[in-house]
Amino acid sequence: MANIQGSCLCGGIRFEADAIDGAGSACHCTMCQKAHGGPFGAYVTLDGVHWLQGEELIAEYRSSEHCSRTFCKTCGSTLEFRDRRKPEHVSMAISALDGDHGGRYGYHIFADDKADWYDINDGLPTYPAGN
Ligand SMILES: [Zn+2]
Ligand SMILES: [Zn+2]
Repeated sequence: MANIQGSCLCGGIRFEADAIDGAGSACHCTMCQKAHGGPFGAYVTLDGVHWLQGEELIAEYRSSEHCSRTFCKTCGSTLEFRDRRKPEHVSMAISALDGDHGGRYGYHIFADDKADWYDINDGLPTYPAGN
């Protein structure tokens, strides 16, 4: 049985994964702010992702030349960040994971673009752009 479970807000999309691959990132770029509806996007890399149901509900928005973001067509929940140059690399919004999964972000990126209404003060490594 997979260790990691996840779903969207409406529950139409469900997935599982074998493991979380290390600490994730908190991305403060303006695209992540818009896509997540919050001060930053928090992602972890998942190994061995299997969609259990609702794959037909996954919509994909191409947000830049090489990258796209997926979300649920029904409830709008943010799911993956996909990079065509790294198709095997699955970045999933930590908010999509359920239960006691243990996923955490370990550093901040694109801090130069961060929201004025949010202060980074957790002491984690912070990078002005990508890492
Ligand atoms: Zn949904
Ligand atoms: Zn971002």
